[in-house]
Amino acid sequence: MSGTTHIGCACGRTRLEVQGAPILVSECLCNSCRTAAGRLAALPSAKNMLTSYGATPCAEYRKDRVRILSGAEHLSEFRLSAEAGSRRVVATCCNTPLFLEMKGAHWLSIYLHLWPDEARPKAGMRTMTGDLPDASSLPADIPNLKSHTVSFYAKLLGAWIAMGFRNPKIEVGGKINA
Ligand SMILES: [Zn+2]
Ligand SMILES: [Zn+2]
Repeated sequence: MSGTTHIGCACGRTRLEVQGAPILVSECLCNSCRTAAGRLAALPSAKNMLTSYGATPCAEYRKDRVRILSGAEHLSEFRLSAEAGSRRVVATCCNTPLFLEMKGAHWLSIYLHLWPDEARPKAGMRTMTGDLPDASSLPADIPNLKSHTVSFYAKLLGAWIAMGFRNPKIEVGGKINA
């Protein structure tokens, strides 16, 4: 995968461009992602982004490979608590969750529902299944990892080295209470 891909919110006013292939593509089963998705799905006209088994599919992209093409004025952040270091950024034009930004991270976890069905990257693993009360009902098509593997972190570190250890800032105007 090379070149640029255009993705965006449900109503089309907020558009992003991502460059090249993601660092990795996964589905997260952690408590935070499930809680956040549930709370964001309660916003007016929002859709639930969880899979039937409660996973949040996302693609990790270097921050310097993501560009906001339009709708920057709609971006608002959501934190699970006032002290939470991680934030989820939502396009408030139609309340589409866009991505998760972990505290201090050089990458964004961009939610896969932003891609049109036919162009959506495929997850290679599920992570944090140890947070589930019962992980036995998960599909067995890809590895179900209790937490993360060393190679997961190695890929993220490799990306940061390639970025010269820079961490671009993502400007977000508003705040969301959900
Ligand atoms: Zn929208
Ligand atoms: Zn998670």
